[in-house]
Amino acid sequence: MSSLANNYNRRKISFKKGKGSFLYSSKGIKYLDFIQGIAVNSLGHSNSYLNKALLNQSRKVWHVSNAFEIPEGEKLAKRLTKNTFADYVIFQNSGAEATEVAIKVARKYFYSKRKPYKNRILCIKNSFHGRTLAAIHASGSKKMTEGFGPKIPGFDHFIFGDHKSLKKSITKKTAAIMVEPVLGEGGIKVIPKWCLKGLRKICDQKNILLICDEVQCGIGRSGKFFAFEYSGIKPDIVPIAKGIGGGFPLGAVLMTKKVSTGMTPGTHGSTFGGNPLAMKIGNAVLDKIMNKKFLRNVQKISNHFIIELNKIKKEYPKIIKDVRGLGLLIGLQLYRDQTNFIKKLEKNKLLTIRAADNVIRILPPLNVKKSEINMSIKIIKKVCKEYKLK
Ligand SMILES: *Cc1c(COP(=O)(O)O)cnc(C)c1O
Repeated sequence: MSSLANNYNRRKISFKKGKGSFLYSSKGIKYLDFIQGIAVNSLGHSNSYLNKALLNQSRKVWHVSNAFEIPEGEKLAKRLTKNTFADYVIFQNSGAEATEVAIKVARKYFYSKRKPYKNRILCIKNSFHGRTLAAIHASGSKKMTEGFGPKIPGFDHFIFGDHKSLKKSITKKTAAIMVEPVLGEGGIKVIPKWCLKGLRKICDQKNILLICDEVQCGIGRSGKFFAFEYSGIKPDIVPIAKGIGGGFPLGAVLMTKKVSTGMTPGTHGSTFGGNPLAMKIGNAVLDKIMNKKFLRNVQKISNHFIIELNKIKKEYPKIIKDVRGLGLLIGLQLYRDQTNFIKKLEKNKLLTIRAADNVIRILPPLNVKKSEINMSIKIIKKVCKEYKLK
């Protein structure tokens, strides 16, 4: 009997090691891992460059707290701001913490501008911003909030793609609109470029901040460093996490100088956030990803993958409803419940994971090889064929 609480529905597999795109189970089975810790291991398993960085830093100093200066963190923040919309960074340890800080920054900004009544955050219904108390209420999902006590006030919701519901939900009290440029858990729904542009415009007109939650779609996952770059807009606040640590717990919030004014000494803190070990690894991840050539390659591989997936869709139009996503954040939407299909893929040694709306989420490492993509295509085809025969 396990002593772990029962809050996860775990698959009955464990692994003894991983390398690149592959995981090796304790039973000695080799899997093509297109989950990668849920879009976290951006450079695959046991990446030698990241291993070196981790070992190197572990011999020096792990943790000192934010009572002191942390040069690796200064460096990582400099790099995260130098080529992006942002001017400042606050480091955390996870995605939910990062979205929470994004909310705090937005509210504190208006408070510091003597508009404390502007404190409501407008989000997409059934999006995903994490599992802390505020984040579940930001996500606006009944499943996640039910039974967890009083509703945390301060969140409003609009329906994905419903512009009327968006306009209706904006009030004088709206401080920020928070969206995932690509809804991850919500079913790999891409917000169209012109919609993000429209959101930016509405925010500018109504003195509202735009928060793009790039915890899942950021740090190269979309084929650009940030997914919002496709639309050419600049957000005010961006929480990141998953991909930036390459498997090490690391989150952060990026913000413009304008909105950072409320965050004076003492207004926020984290014991672990930005510790030297995490910062060293974050820098090592950026060494590889923050590079035009690397990102071009993500786009190239993605194009190939999506073309091949669409061929399968054409061959099996009654099984596959939609192929969607950006970069290597890909969703395969089925007509029916996807659970069985995911199990079949797993039997054929391909690991994928679900998202809402019957979607199978496919998340290869960003340095995946074309031959590995082709392996996965073969397996998906095989499973479609078996499905059709049934
Ligand atoms: C995963 C995720 C989070 C929460 O991240 P945790 O590290 O699990 O707290 C928040 N926002 C988005 C978009 C995510 O995909």
